Parts: sequence; C-alpha cells; structure tokens
Amino acid sequence: MNAPTERPAPAAAGSANEFDVVIVGAGFAGMYMLHRARGQGLRAVVFEAGDGVGGTWYWNRYPGARCDVESMEYSYQFDDTLQQQWHWSERFAPQPEILKYANHVADRYDLRRDIRFSTRVTAAHFDEAGARWNVTTDRGDQVSGRFVVMATGCLSSTNKPAFPGLETFTGPTYHTGEWPHEPVDFSGKRVAVIGTGSSAIQSIPIIAKQASELWVFQRTANYSVPARNAPLDPGYEARIKAEYQAFRARNSQMMGAFGSAFPRSEVSIFSASDEERDRAFAERWNRGGLGFQGAFADLMINPNANEIAADWVRERIREIVKDPATAELLCPTQVLGCKRMCVDTGYFETFNQPHVHLIDIRPGGIEAITPRGVKAAGREFEVDAIVFATGFDAMTGTLLRIDVRGRDGVSLRDAWAAGPRTYLGLNVAGFPNLFTVSGPGSPSVLTNMIVSIEQHVNWIAGCMAWLRAQGRRTIEATPQAQEAWVGHVNAVADTTLYPHCNSWYLGANVPGKTRVFMPLIGFPDYVKRCDEVVARGYEGFAVA
Ligand code: FAD
Ligand code: NAP
Repeated sequence: MNAPTERPAPAAAGSANEFDVVIVGAGFAGMYMLHRARGQGLRAVVFEAGDGVGGTWYWNRYPGARCDVESMEYSYQFDDTLQQQWHWSERFAPQPEILKYANHVADRYDLRRDIRFSTRVTAAHFDEAGARWNVTTDRGDQVSGRFVVMATGCLSSTNKPAFPGLETFTGPTYHTGEWPHEPVDFSGKRVAVIGTGSSAIQSIPIIAKQASELWVFQRTANYSVPARNAPLDPGYEARIKAEYQAFRARNSQMMGAFGSAFPRSEVSIFSASDEERDRAFAERWNRGGLGFQGAFADLMINPNANEIAADWVRERIREIVKDPATAELLCPTQVLGCKRMCVDTGYFETFNQPHVHLIDIRPGGIEAITPRGVKAAGREFEVDAIVFATGFDAMTGTLLRIDVRGRDGVSLRDAWAAGPRTYLGLNVAGFPNLFTVSGPGSPSVLTNMIVSIEQHVNWIAGCMAWLRAQGRRTIEATPQAQEAWVGHVNAVADTTLYPHCNSWYLGANVPGKTRVFMPLIGFPDYVKRCDEVVARGYEGFAVA
C-alpha cells in the first residue's frame, strides 16, 4: 500500500464547493465533458494545471509541432455549425492553429467560467458513506463531486530520464512537451536534441535551420513518412463540408477512426507482384501521412509482410540521405508501425546538411550531461542548449501522479501495480463514478483522438443521465468484467505485431514501468461493444 496521505476534507454540504461533476483537465476531453455536463443541467467544475485550454496543444509548443491526422478530421464533430464554420489553413494544422481552435471552442461555448486554471488536482478520495469524491488541489481547493472525470490526457506527463549530471549543465534545457510560451531562438547556437520520436522528427528540421551546429542523439531509429503538408485545398474543404457528417461516419468505421478517403487495402501483400507492391507503397508515400501503413492488409499482422514494407522505407532513406553511414544509422530495424510511425517534413534530408550530426547512442546511452554539454559514445559534445525530445510517461503516468483512492481507501497505484486494469478504458473496478477519458484499455492513442474523446464523453454523459433517470447513485465495473476486458485487450494485441518492440504503448520507454500493451486495437468493434454494454443495461457494471 502507498503511505497514507492526508485525507481531503469533504466539502461542506450544499456549499459552493459541491458539484455533480469534477473534471480534471481542460484539453479537448475536459472541454467537451464540461459542455455535455452543462447540457444535462449538471453543476460541473474543471481543474486545469495549465493557464489555458488546449492540453497537448497548450504544452507542446516546440518548433514544427502539428497534427499527423489531417485537420479536416482532427477536430470536434459534435456541432455541425462549428465544423462548418471553422477553417483550417493547412492539410496538417500547426500547433498554434490547433490551440487557436481550442480557444475558439472555449469562447464559443462559454467554457472558461467553470474552469479553474493553474490548478493541479493532487488527490481524489471516494467517501463511501456519502458516495461522493473529495477532490483536493495544489491551491488548497477542497471540492466534492458525485462524479469525477479524469480528462487528464494520455500524453501529458513528460518523460525526463534521470541522466547523470543533468543539473550541472550551464545552458538552457527544454523538453518538447513543456516548451516555453515565448519563441526560443537557436540562431548561431550549438544544440543537442536527445530522442528521435515524433516530436524530435518534427522539430529537428526547424532547429537545424537556426542552429550553427546540431547534434542528434539517437537510441532507436524511427520510421517516418513525408507529410506532404500544403495549404488546405479549398476544393477538398468544400467537398468535405458538403457532406461532413457522412465523412465522419465513414471515418468512424476505420480501425483508427480516420483516413476513410484512403483506407487500408484489403489485399494481402503476398498476392501482389513486386511491381504492384512498389506501386502501392509509392502511391501512399507520395500522398503523405499515416496512410502508408495501410498499403496492404497484412502489414501489422505478418512479420514477413511487415519486413517487405520496412525494406521499402529503408530504401527511401538510403536514397534521401547522401552519407551511407548516416543513412544506415537512420534505417530502423524494428517492426514498422509497432512504435507509432512519424510523419515529417524534410527530416531525413536534414542530415545532408554539414552542420547536422547523428550520434548513435545505442551502445551506452547518454553517459552524462556535463556543465558544457552531452557525454555519449565515449566523448563530450559541447553545446549551448539541450532539447529533450524524450517523450511521455504515457497513458498511466498522469493518472498515477494523482492520489486517487477508491473503496476501502485502495489507491489506484496499488490497483494498477501489475499494470493498468480497466473495463472499456472507462472505469476501474473499486472506483465508483470515476471515469477515464481515453483510458488504458480503450483505442485512444491508436486513433484519431478527438473522435475517441467524443465517443467516451458521450458514453459518460449518457451513463450519468441513465443513473439519474434510474434513481441510482453509483456505477462501477465488476472485477469479473474488468478481468475479461483486460484479457480481451491483450488477446487482440497478440494477434498483431504491435507488442513486438519497446514502445511507449507498452510502457517500455520508462524505466521500471510494468510492461503491458495499454491501448485496444480497433475503434469500430470497441464502439459496438460500448453500445452493447449500454443496450444490456450497463452489462459488466455494478449499479447501486
Ligand atoms: P490533453 O490534451 O493531454 O489534456 C489533458 C489536460 O489535463 C492537460 O492540459 C493537463 O495540464 C491537464 N492535467 C493533467 N493532470 C492534471 C491534474 N492533476 N490537475 C489538473 N490538470 C491536469 N492525437 C491525434 O489524434 N492526432 C494527432 O495528430 C496528434 N498529435 C499529437 C502531437 C503531440 C505533440 C502530442 C503530445 C500528442 C498528439 N496527439 C495526437 C495526442 C493528443 O494528446 C490528443 O489528440 C488530444 O489532444 C488529447 O486531449 P485530452 O484532452 O485527452 O488530453
Ligand atoms: P517518443 O515517441 O516516446 O520518443 C521519445 C524519444 O526519446 C525516442 O527516440 C526515445 O528512444 C528517446 N529516449 C527516451 N528516453 C531516452 C533515454 N533515456 N536516452 C536516450 N533516448 C531516450 O516521444 P515523442 O516524440 O514526444 O512522441 C510521443 C507521441 O506523441 C507520439 O508517438 C505521438 O503519438 C504523439 N506525437 C505526435 C506528433 C504528430 O506528428 N502529430 C508529434 C509529436 C508527438 P527509444 O525509441 O529508444 O525509446
């Protein structure tokens, strides 16, 4: 058990601090949850650690940050007027524009009056007698809620490896996921970037334009597909807007809830000739974006099929990168797609510039951070600034930073000691009336997340309304339903190649984290299951 902590005091009955719903987080999930709760006449409050809305897009302001799901799809669909009126400027929207959109939504639906910014929820304890959650914040708030909705995000706690000597570095350091609000100018500076995941791959080409010398420290090479980003084609925008709802409906039938305009092929790679394979890969490479992974039906289930696709990408890297040794280092060797594929603009080309250097740190990792720079591969690299593009303690990290205690004072940390366990990714057995949005065990990070978020929030809102209509107080997953669900999530993953490398989907990027494949693969089947659960009177849940 965790060391006992001070118990949050219950809010005075009938006081201004008693709510129907306490929502944690004001990203896309928390904002929509607030809107839906209000729509039901519920009294809701949102706590947000940042001083603005937008979540991911508030925190990740690094150069080059943008979505890798197309803008016309990476947006809310709950209000057709909103989606008709909003105009995206690019095929893949840049971070400032997505943040502007989040702020527009907050203003349009008058959300801010119920959001307490710059306030971090530190504890949420269930009071069994009153069947309410007592919630405490780092600013001394003590509120209670019938329901708590953790809209805390899957990628909202940065992973900051404890490199020896970190605190001795005399220059500025940055983490991509906590980027300063004011622009950072690397002009004329020697810069180190540690990491080569999506955040690094987006930022490196831009940092390289400014830096006098750029050192990229790579532990694992990643597959990346060109974005082919461009101003949004007005004809395309008009065509989508003419049938936006039907377009959304088609996307909801995709495994990842996006990409219906260019869906995954149903053809096995083994039924295609060499020329047909090449044509299919080239077509998707030239179109740009994550659709590459859908060139054939079996790329994520058959290792030989996957290797053919991986070889094809490695050939492109060798074509782009002029120095053969650097090209080889940039060629990934793991299963393609088992770490999330990256989408880039000029990433591999950047390594053709004489002031950009790739350092292979596989043998010994980062040995130390020194007052003057980074020690790796047996030497010291002197730099003026260090960028940590080292990712996130994904899916569970943010939830476990909060002292959440359910029935009998059991902490979430204890309940998840062997890895996260949920029912539908929505609730944890023993934690009544506490919901997670895009929690582990739901498709979340394997999808267009705004679609998953809306589906979850709609389900939660429906559940709250149902409980009220039935005159019931609490709902919680049964341990049996939860066990069966965890088994299902693992069984689905095991039919694919996703668990076959050290990805953050498995928690493998954080030392000591339990290795469990956390997201569920397949959005349409998941939604069907959620709907069935409701149709069968909340099957798998205990209601009191
Ligand atoms: P978040 O946006 O993470 O918001 C959670 C909020 O909760 C944060 O603002 C945080 O400050 C707050 N919070 C957390 N803990 C507490 C606490 N204890 N107290 C108070 N507040 C708290 N997904 C896609 O589908 N397509 C993309 O192209 C895409 N690109 C991405 C790019 C980057 C750089 C990253 C990091 C993620 C990307 N994602 C993408 C995933 C993205 O996280 C989701 O699409 C979506 O924005 C998540 O929204 P959310 O509201 O669930 O969580
Ligand atoms: P990430 O994919 O986890 O990449 C982190 C990088 O840091 C990896 O290269 C990792 O190497 C390296 N690293 C971690 N710990 C290290 C250590 N101790 N020593 C050396 N290197 C270390 O994180 P991210 O790039 O921030 O992306 C996370 C997710 O956010 C993405 O997968 C995606 O879902 C989302 N995202 C999306 C976009 C987009 O295009 N829209 C952009 C950014 C992020 P290893 O691989 O060896 O662990």
